[in-house]
Amino acid sequence: MSRFFSQKYDTLTPYVPGEQPRDRRYIKLNTNESPFPPSKKALEKAEEVLGRLNLYSDPDCKYFREAIAETYGFDPEEVLAVNGSDEALNFAFMAFADEGRPASFPDVTYGFYPVFARLNGIPYREIPLNDAFEITPSDYFNAPGPVVIANPNAQTGIALPMEAIGEIVKQNPGNVVIVDEAYVDFGGESALPLVKKYENLLVIQTFSKSRSLAGARLGFAIGNKALIQDLNTIRCSINPYNVNSVTLAMGIGALSDPEYMKKNAAYIAEIRELTKQALKDLGFTVTESKSNFILAGHPEADGGFLYRELKNRGILIRHFDTERLSQYNRITIGTREQMQVLLEQIKSILQGK
Ligand code: PMP
Repeated sequence: MSRFFSQKYDTLTPYVPGEQPRDRRYIKLNTNESPFPPSKKALEKAEEVLGRLNLYSDPDCKYFREAIAETYGFDPEEVLAVNGSDEALNFAFMAFADEGRPASFPDVTYGFYPVFARLNGIPYREIPLNDAFEITPSDYFNAPGPVVIANPNAQTGIALPMEAIGEIVKQNPGNVVIVDEAYVDFGGESALPLVKKYENLLVIQTFSKSRSLAGARLGFAIGNKALIQDLNTIRCSINPYNVNSVTLAMGIGALSDPEYMKKNAAYIAEIRELTKQALKDLGFTVTESKSNFILAGHPEADGGFLYRELKNRGILIRHFDTERLSQYNRITIGTREQMQVLLEQIKSILQGK
């Protein structure tokens, strides 16, 4: 730390993203990316704008917001475009929480939530999942400030039905409920239909997972116009050109190819179920994930040990060295072939070979 660093931030612990090694080619099952390339339509659209990069990107993200509105049945004014859904989450913490309105989220969830809270000086409550790693909706009723729920939840992949989300929203008339649907396309149930009914619901989605655009950084939030206006106040006070032109064009291209996304998401869901079963057959406990990853733990193999052994063998998975997760690992679902290699290596490690 330099002696110039603001006191506001000198105790901040930044979010640690999953490894993105450049030294060696791994089977990469650690950051919930798609194993498939972006849609060809996204790539074509990107080509079209490269020659115009001398101009700033559209600060209104007009065409992209219109395409999202059309795809999901909303008005463009109910849509915010962001530089990855992380940005929308940060904006939402900034806009809807403060010292008197602490944020509430589960103790096991996306690790960026507490970081955003601390960055913005927002107190927070971490509400324990039950022993089966499930969210108990009533724990979030009448919260003292905004509620943040990843659905499906991060690290577990377990999903709540739309009804349960609706109940949390209904029981928080004084707070914004932020539903982070990064993984919804792999089998979850979106809360988007509830946005029409509740003025305090904000749904956030990303193009990083099912739409294979993690490196382009693109996400969106949908909520009633007043909520979106608040987020725009924050956005335009930080960076009105928050989404670059190439990314906006790719987003429009990807939206014009829904079949590609659906086919890939269905494939991942199928491989997820096969992988779940194969791991259970090897003695693992595996979460009932509706996402593109699973959380798996073995009673006789320490999570950290398994992670290190697999890394030595060229396979990256994600280990969280926290109290509740250290016995487990989060494994992104890749292609059939990648998962076969993973399972063979796990078998060999368990046999002590
Ligand atoms: N929410 C959750 C639950 C996530 O796991 C991730 C991915 N790390 C994100 C949001 C952020 O995704 P992105 O910023 O790439 O849209």
